[in-house]
Amino acid sequence: MTRSLATRLQSVQPSATLAISQRAAELRKQGIDIISFSLGEPDFHTPAHIREAAKRAIDEGASHYTAVRGMPKLREAISADSKKRRGGLVHTPDEIVVSVGAKHSLFNLALALYEEGDEVIIPAPYWVSYPEQVRMLGGTPVIVETREEDGFVLTAAALEQALTPRTKALILCTPSNPTGSAYTPTQLAALAEVARRHDFWLITDEIYSRLVYGGFEQRSLLEVAPDLRDRTIIVDGVSKTHAMTGWRVGWILAPKVICDAVDMVQSQSTTNPTAVAQFAALAALEGPDDAFDAMHAIFDERRQVMVRGLAALPGLRCRMPEGAFYAFPSVVGLYGKTVGSHTLTDDVSVAQWLLEEARVAVVPGTPFGAPGYVRLSYATSTELIREGLKRIGDALAALR
Ligand code: PMP
Ligand code: GLU
Repeated sequence: MTRSLATRLQSVQPSATLAISQRAAELRKQGIDIISFSLGEPDFHTPAHIREAAKRAIDEGASHYTAVRGMPKLREAISADSKKRRGGLVHTPDEIVVSVGAKHSLFNLALALYEEGDEVIIPAPYWVSYPEQVRMLGGTPVIVETREEDGFVLTAAALEQALTPRTKALILCTPSNPTGSAYTPTQLAALAEVARRHDFWLITDEIYSRLVYGGFEQRSLLEVAPDLRDRTIIVDGVSKTHAMTGWRVGWILAPKVICDAVDMVQSQSTTNPTAVAQFAALAALEGPDDAFDAMHAIFDERRQVMVRGLAALPGLRCRMPEGAFYAFPSVVGLYGKTVGSHTLTDDVSVAQWLLEEARVAVVPGTPFGAPGYVRLSYATSTELIREGLKRIGDALAALR
């Protein structure tokens, strides 16, 4: 007999992004005026037509279980939306499974795919949950470094080198959290060329795919390499695009064999995503795009303010990201500087110092597999971005 916790948890870390935003919220509660660039979550309200559709759904009886993989109507809408946005690529409703957020979709995939001995290739910088989910299921994350000079993009040569007979999957995030970098069609084609010569699952997290700026040509890996359809799994959702993080709706578009496996996993865990939230997601996909267009334009403006502002500060270096809503500056230029008894030695100490001195919350790069960088989310008002930049500038001026 034993009351111990499962040993599999010993190698898993809690979500660093959530931990830091909770810390910022606690400090605020204590009356400390913190500007938080920590959480990747739109600050906008869910658009009105989506909220109205959800209210109607409640009144009209959306209080029952739905199909495990999501209401057929919603999967039809996802299919049509994906076809429109992915160059005519068609996933039929039985090649779609809706879950309780894209994080849940990824976790369901992890349960369906990974086991002891499996290696999952994850380019760094990576979103914090990818390696932890792999570890939780007994797999081994194989972290492959990318370079800022290459735009933080995984090259075909680096992918080729990381492959072993145990490779089970590659997780690609484009546009990326945390760097905001996105893969061009040519870069995707080069990776597809490697994938063709080997046999592993390609998971492409496209949750930020509508959030690209400056005319960037966003393409899905499958549009570039439709012949890889039997091994490619697209992850998407409404959280970022439609300011719906709290509704918890995400999905996969994948070969039927994967969808059936994920359906089975889900049937023994959450049953279905919340019915009302599914009606809200349906309205998001079928409704007008004006609200999205307005948010998109605002994100683009904030991107310019944040990135230009950071790049102008002494000791920081920041590339202009193609998408998502993150800036990812290098802070290596600050190492060795001191203020009072503080010496800045790494990205974690820089983030701590910014929180204490500037009262600005950022996420250190280390939990994203990128020491030397910090992540700032610009999914917050332009005024707060300007004020946060001013605070960082003032704190930098006090460094010796
Ligand atoms: N993938 C990436 C890259 C993300 O940044 C997020 C946001 N947390 C998710 C997946 C999960 O999104 P959600 O669970 O809110 O749909
Ligand atoms: N993806 C968001 C972020 O990176 C939300 C937090 C999380 O799910 O980890 O900040």
